[in-house]
Amino acid sequence: METHYKGKLRCATCGSDSHFEFNEDKSYIKCSKCNREYLGGYDELMQFNQETIDEIKNEIVQNVKKEITQKLKDAFRGNKNIKFK
Ligand SMILES: [Zn+2]
Repeated sequence: METHYKGKLRCATCGSDSHFEFNEDKSYIKCSKCNREYLGGYDELMQFNQETIDEIKNEIVQNVKKEITQKLKDAFRGNKNIKFK
């Protein structure tokens, strides 16, 4: 399974990234904080994280949009001919 995800994996239940126990080939992973078991192992955990990453990406896009709007507002401050909604 190929992935470009370089960050830390997080538990889908409790969000912890530092309580994982896994067997040698990572075909079984358990979170020792909330006792969640990933019977699909690393692939299953990765899948949960991929969904989270997609959410984060959407959030980043929204934040960037806000930031750009704010910068434009700042840039045009004092110009009464340009209005932002
Ligand atoms: Zn957990």
